[in-house]
Amino acid sequence: MLPRRHNYQNTMRYLRQRYGMCAKCGNERGANSTKWLCDKCKELKRDYHKTLRLQREQAGLCRECQCPRGENGTKIYCRSCADKVNLQIKQMRSQRVAQGLCRQCKKPLRHRHSVCTPCLADWAEKDRNRNAQQKQVAQTN
Ligand SMILES: [Zn+2]
Ligand SMILES: [Zn+2]
Ligand SMILES: [Zn+2]
Repeated sequence: MLPRRHNYQNTMRYLRQRYGMCAKCGNERGANSTKWLCDKCKELKRDYHKTLRLQREQAGLCRECQCPRGENGTKIYCRSCADKVNLQIKQMRSQRVAQGLCRQCKKPLRHRHSVCTPCLADWAEKDRNRNAQQKQVAQTN
């Protein structure tokens, strides 16, 4: 699909993408890259967005609408965005469950749980890690 705006930059990006190059730096994209960017640019982009997000959080701004989060906002969203996001997540999850998909990774389920076995194992692992961390914190205090 051609980009809608036909300026030079977009055309370059499109051509690079099409010929297996990174849309940003023009190097070969490699096997585990995204559809557009090579591994390096992917990382850079992720870092950039992460920094931006952190800056907003520290400035007390909502991650979604960039308004001040206010007193009844969450740690990252203002109240109305938090409600919106929560609703979206809820809808998405119940949709997946209704379709017989794991609500975490979208893989088809073979049993009547809402999460597949690998994801359950994953959760258990994360729980264990969290508990271990909390213990460590408790000990150092
Ligand atoms: Zn690149
Ligand atoms: Zn917001
Ligand atoms: Zn899963």
